[in-house]
This record gives sequence, C-alpha cells and structure tokens, in this order.
Amino acid sequence: MSNGVNNKDRRNLRILSLLICVALAFTLMANLFKIQILDGEKYQTMAITQQLREIEIEPHRGSIYDTNMKMLAQSATVWNVIFEPANLPKDNERAEEIVKMMSQGIGLKKIKPEEEEKSGPNDMSLAEILGIEPEVIETKAANRGSYYEVLKKRVDRSTYERVVKFIQDNNISSLSLVETTKRYYPYNNLASTILGFVNDMNQGAYGLESYYNSILSGTSGRLVAARNGLSGDMPFEYQKLYEGTDGNSLVLTIDATVQQFLEKHLEIAYVEHDVQKWVTGIVMNVNTGEILGMSSKPDFNPNSPMVVDDPKAQERLVGLEDEKYAVQLQKEQQTLWRNKCISDPYEPGSVFKLVTAASSLDTGTATTNSGYTCPGYQIVAGNRIHCWKHAGHGNLSFAEAIQRSCNPSFMQMGQALGTANFSKYFDSFGLTEVTGIDLPGEASGIYHPEEKMGIAELSSSAFGQTFKVTPIPMLTAASATINGGYLVQPYVVKQVIDSDKNIVESYEPVVKRQVVSSETSEIMQEMGEVVVATDEGSGRNARIEGYRIGGKTGTGEKLDNFVDGEQVIEYILSFYAFLPADDPEYAVLITLDEPVVGDAQSSTIAVPVVAALLEDIIPYLGIEPSYTASEEEEEETTVMVPHLIDQKPHEAQISLRQKGLKTEIIGDGATVIKQIPENPTRLPKGGTVILYTDDTVVNSMTKVPNVIGKNAEEANRLVINAGLNISIEGQNLEGGKTVVVAQDPPADSNAEIGTIVTVYFTEPVAEDE
Ligand SMILES: [Zn+2]
Repeated sequence: MSNGVNNKDRRNLRILSLLICVALAFTLMANLFKIQILDGEKYQTMAITQQLREIEIEPHRGSIYDTNMKMLAQSATVWNVIFEPANLPKDNERAEEIVKMMSQGIGLKKIKPEEEEKSGPNDMSLAEILGIEPEVIETKAANRGSYYEVLKKRVDRSTYERVVKFIQDNNISSLSLVETTKRYYPYNNLASTILGFVNDMNQGAYGLESYYNSILSGTSGRLVAARNGLSGDMPFEYQKLYEGTDGNSLVLTIDATVQQFLEKHLEIAYVEHDVQKWVTGIVMNVNTGEILGMSSKPDFNPNSPMVVDDPKAQERLVGLEDEKYAVQLQKEQQTLWRNKCISDPYEPGSVFKLVTAASSLDTGTATTNSGYTCPGYQIVAGNRIHCWKHAGHGNLSFAEAIQRSCNPSFMQMGQALGTANFSKYFDSFGLTEVTGIDLPGEASGIYHPEEKMGIAELSSSAFGQTFKVTPIPMLTAASATINGGYLVQPYVVKQVIDSDKNIVESYEPVVKRQVVSSETSEIMQEMGEVVVATDEGSGRNARIEGYRIGGKTGTGEKLDNFVDGEQVIEYILSFYAFLPADDPEYAVLITLDEPVVGDAQSSTIAVPVVAALLEDIIPYLGIEPSYTASEEEEEETTVMVPHLIDQKPHEAQISLRQKGLKTEIIGDGATVIKQIPENPTRLPKGGTVILYTDDTVVNSMTKVPNVIGKNAEEANRLVINAGLNISIEGQNLEGGKTVVVAQDPPADSNAEIGTIVTVYFTEPVAEDE
C-alpha cells in the first residue's frame, strides 16, 4: 500500500521536473528557476560542449471588450506538445519501444484496475490522443540529436490532461508541454471586420488585432536551459526564466447589442436584394464620433479566418484547380476580411446632397427661399444630364429639391456655389483626407481637385457623382451638416486597460473643426426631417411612430464598371439617417453595393433596412419618443394583419410598422414564406408578427403560459415573454382588479410563436375586507 503511494509521489516529482510547466504562477517559477548551478566549474565546461537552449514564453495577449465589458476576443491557455528525441534512452532497443508506444500504442504500460477506474483507461497511443499520424512521431524520432520537435500546437486542456496522463502512465521523459495561448472569439462573426484576427504566431494580422498589436501582445519571456544530454532523467543542468509582460486589453466604443442588430439587418438585406458585392453599415454617435456598430457583409469568422463560407464566393471557386484556385481563394479571403466601411471608396450619390446644401446655405449662395427648375435634365457643357425623374420635377423650393432628391436642382445649386467654395467645403467636410479612425487600411477618396474642376465636374459632384469616398468620411461629413456643424473624428477604442482592469489610457472624442454654422445645421436638421416625415419624401419608409428622424437617400452610379471593355452601369444604394432630428445623437449609414432584385435603381430599398435597424436599437439605446400618437391613431386598438407572403422581409415590415405592429424576422431567406398571425386576423396594436423566410426554421413552438387568475399586466408580460401575442376580451380593465378567468389556447399547450392568446376577464368575487 505505502509502496503505491511512494511510486505515485515519485512519478509526480518526475512530472514536475520534466514538464516545462509555465502554467504555474510565474513568480513561483522564477524562484524555482533561479540559477541552479549544481557544480559551478563543471557548468563552465559543459556549457560549451552541451546544448544551451532557449524557449520563448509567449505573454498573455490582452482581451478585447465591447463598451459594456462583454468579451469579444480573449486568449485561452493551450499547450504545444514538444517531443525531445535527444532525451530518449541511450539504449536503442528501449528507445524504439518508447517510440512504438507513442506512435502506435504498442506496449503501453498496464495500470492497476483501481487506477483505471479512477482516471480512465490508457489504451491510446500519443498519436491517437493528438490526432496525428504515427509516422509523424517516427520521423521526428529519427532526429536523435534534437531537443525540440513540435508534435502538435495549441492543444486544449482536455488533450493536455490526457498527454500528462500518458507521460505519467508510461514513464516517458522525452515529452514536454509548453504553455501558450490561443485567440478565441466567443461571438464568432460578430464585429469580425473590426476585430480582425491573429496569425499562427499569435500576432495581429488584420483589424484591431493588427492596429493595436503592440498594446495587446505584451513582451515575450524566455526560459534558458542548458541540457546535459547524458540521461533522460534529469535533463536540466541550468535554467533561468526571464519574465515577460502580459498585453493590455482594449475597451471599444462598439456595443455588441447594437452590432448584433446591425449585422442581422445587413445579412437580411444582402439576401433579400441579392446584393452582388456587399453591404455596409455604421452606427455612430454624431457628437462624439464613437462608433457603436460597424460591419460589412459577407464577412468571416475570426476563429477560422481562412474559411470562405459566403455562398457567392464559394460559387466563384467552383471548378478552379491548383494555382487558379489558390489565387482566387486568396482574393476571396481578403475580400471577406476587408472592412469596406473604411477601405472601399464608392460613389455616394444623393446622400452627398446634404453637403452641397449645407455648404450653399453656409456661404449664402442658397437660402431656404431659393428656387430651382427641373425639366427632367440639365444641359452642362453641351451635355444633357438627366434627373432620375425623366419627366422632371418642375419648379422646386430649396426644401423640395432635397426632399425629392432632384439632380438638376443640385447642379444649379452647385453652380451657384462655384468651384472655389465647393472645393473649400469639400475639403473642410473632411472628404479630401482620411478620417483617422483607429483601424488599419483606411483608404483615401478620389475626387476632382479645384484646379481641375470645370463646370461639368462641379455639376456632377454637386449631386454626389464622379467622385468616390469610403462610407466612414461620408458618414462624418453628413453628420457635420446636422450636429451643429462639427466634423468629428470617428473612433472604436475608448480605453486601454491592464489585466486588473485599471485604466492605462483613455481616448477622448476629437472634434476636428466646425465646418458650418449652427444656424445652417439647424436648417439642415429640418431639411433632413422633411425627407422622412413627408409623404413625398424619399425616406418616408423610415418613419417610426413617436420619433423624429431625418435622413437622405442615395443612388450612386458606378461609372468605372466595365465588363469586356463595355461600360456597365451598376448601382450602390444607400440611406443616411439621424435621430432625434431636432437634437441629433445617433446616425446610421447603410450601403448596398449592386443589389439586383427589387427596385434596384431606386435608392429607397436601403430605407427599410435602416428603419428596421432603428426600430431595434431605439428602445435598446433608450431614446425617448419625441411625440405621442394622435388621438385618432390611439382610438384604433386592433389592426388587420396584412398578407405578407412572398414579400421581402424588410419591405413587409414597412406595412406592419405603419399599422403600429412589431416584427420578428426568422430565417436566412430572401422572401417571407410564412407569417404568424396570418391574414386576415386582427391583432392589437403593438403586437408582433413573426415572418419566416426559411423553411428549415418554420415551426418555432413555445409553451402557452398559464395566465388564469392573473391581472392584465401580468398576463400581458407572461404571454409576450413566451413569444406569443395577446388579445384581451371581456370586461374593462380599469383599476386592475380584474383577473383572467379563461384563455385560448389553454395553458401548457404548444403553440407556434406569434400565435394570439385570447384571454377573457371578469370581475373577481369581492373579498371581505
Ligand atoms: Zn428633378
């Protein structure tokens, strides 16, 4: 009995001396590894003749948190499994046995049945445990002078524990486990184009991981060891640990919840409009430049950045082989990794009209009393440039020119502004420079410099054509027209913190300059609101009851698109929105690059995407309503659920929103294939219609809660929380003394989510008081 214990103790000691167990606290290790010269003089000579080796100890890479300290990127402890053939026994026969044990599992030592009961059987070879081919071990074993052959990198804790047990069970002294870290992104694709990813060396390769690499990575430690090489039992003659420092962590301005909503709606838009290139979206605080959400879709999962899982990208890879495949694969990967919000200039189209209008008001070359004429075109330098409305808009006021996004009006406005003023403001709005956002790969725009700007260039630039900027400076420029006139610097990192969460550095908002006066900005707020709030406004589908929202649609014509030498006009559709319109706090810019279904040349298809996003983030961000519904709107308590089958989800949502209903879109499909409740059903205002777009998920069931005996408020909460709708029948509810006496469907039955639960009230029997 005591013998067994001793054996175990001895084995544990062996493990301590064999494993370079950096997993232990560094301070403890530093003491253990203080210079241990067993024999000073002997060391002097041995150091020359024997192998002195150095192992780099990776520091712990800092984490990345969202603004509410949700973990977006972290480093988990993993281990590299190192084979030291030089420490195999000198006896060749015995060495062969050990190699066979490791590679093929031949001759594994039997452990006592009672131990096996406790710690599991030991019938697997090391190759099997690691999931590698036996030949890998055999080949490396042939390199008998080597102390460092990597068998497998970054194994997780459970594999680590099995390897430790393998070493213990079989008394092997030629294996070691070196602690290292592995980057892990708990939310997979979420914010991937911002976060980027790390390479195989655990260094930032893209995104924030790359931009802030020196802050996140820390500095390496080193373990220096001299090996005597004479026996495998006590390999270390001399060891010293030089401690490194761990990396600091980043706290972002990104809000994971806003980011989730943004990505959900970008994904839906990408599919419902069969977008050929990509969609982008940014949510920013217009007063500080803090980015709350930023994404482009399709994107990638930073846990496996090499995987291309966008179906369109996969299609382009089909049938390619060898070199061609490799080249295309790399191209697809880089496209998915790239943050198009900051790296891909586009023709902003009419969103830019906000800048022309604000510049014109600010210089006085236009006032709210200015008038414009649109016969459907404008002749510029002998060329006829059409309005998007070929029949023409007729006579327009300044506000109407913006509301209807009339091109000839803006050519006239631009010409009145003149090239010098236009260029001065274009520059002042930050469109000739990068924004300086703290992300790598920001691209500059392409534009007509003042000295090369003739009337043709001025006229087309005035309505947002013939130049390119990336979405991020377009967003900050548009926001400067409505936030009081200030150009802010967008940013995504607000703090650097150490491992104890102490703040090491804080980044404050930067206002670069005032571009237009606060009076101009106030007028622009009204102009933007007209676009959304009036029935003629191109942004009317972004209306959300109770909220004052401003915006501007955009249709960019891609003039540099050629297929086989022929110019093919493709479109980038966008919508910029800000709210509250009279005191803006947040702005959103969404772009769809080459949508091919729906009204693809109409900028209005980006509007419902923004509206859907706003509908989700408004309650989350706690934005207070600016007004309450009118009395007549209030009077109607139930509304007819419309027929929505075959509609695009974001478009179906418009008619529901207009009726005062909420929506939940479930699935990854392009059109609505099922709705709950169905048409025709009356649903109380504020109810939720479930829209399914994907037949793999059409039957989401839930259990109907028991609401018998509950008052109206409790019944409502229970039913809504279960994902169901409620319809109240019977007695009036004033005073809250009524309780539910019956319900349909009954309690505990299964119902599809969105189903209406009808509850019946009556006065409870009066209690004696
Ligand atoms: Zn027009």
